[in-house]
Amino acid sequence: MRFVSRAEWGARAARNGHQAVAANRGVKVHYLGGPYSADEHGTCAGYMRKVQNSHMDGNGWSDFAYNLAVCEHGYVFEGRGRNAQNAANGNTTLNRDHFAVLAFVGDSGHTGPTAEQTAGLRDAIAYLRANGAGREIRGHRDGYATECPGGALYRLVTSGALEPGAGSGADTGTAGGWAPFPGSEWFRTGPRSPLVAAMGRRLVEEGCGAYQQGPGPQWGEADRRSYARWQRKLGYAGGDADGWPGASSWARLHVPKA
Ligand SMILES: [Zn+2]
Ligand SMILES: [Zn+2]
Repeated sequence: MRFVSRAEWGARAARNGHQAVAANRGVKVHYLGGPYSADEHGTCAGYMRKVQNSHMDGNGWSDFAYNLAVCEHGYVFEGRGRNAQNAANGNTTLNRDHFAVLAFVGDSGHTGPTAEQTAGLRDAIAYLRANGAGREIRGHRDGYATECPGGALYRLVTSGALEPGAGSGADTGTAGGWAPFPGSEWFRTGPRSPLVAAMGRRLVEEGCGAYQQGPGPQWGEADRRSYARWQRKLGYAGGDADGWPGASSWARLHVPKA
């Protein structure tokens, strides 16, 4: 699981302490409602802060409403966290019965979860179960009058694909083991990682290799030139084809988990 703690995303302190609950019925899945555009992972922590501010300042709640949130890159952000009563399911009884997990999915723009996000939701559910959650996996609309979590996400909820361990079988075949986008900034740090080598091998397979030797684990100019070829192959131009990986071109490259 790619877990992002409150400290890592820059959460404000909760106004009041959270009430502990066991949520022994299970987990409910939510979407954002409203428009949401998928972006690079570097923007996700800021999005969490924005949602937290709207919950605390706009709605007057004690904290970010959900226990966990999963971005389109499959990272699991700590909201109220494990063992805490959420404020998302509709009323106190519902909030005690089920933990609440938010997916960064809108009702326009990014409306269907990515393969990485589906895997992240499974991670989030497994984590909550390990901390006492019951076996049910439901949508917000189950037992409460709301559209949430939207059609695409609700189909996923009812398909069984969010059951921890469901893996690559039930959903789309794309969830098998592709590496989520590590974020643009990561590449600019000149990383040395098996993920860079795995990316390079995929670029070579796509006919985009610009390597004299390699590809290898150390990010370098040959990687950037190769990645620029991939971006041009996808039809990107100008600054969108500068060789610095972005979330959408990465998602289409299907880099295996290193
Ligand atoms: Zn909801
Ligand atoms: Zn993200």
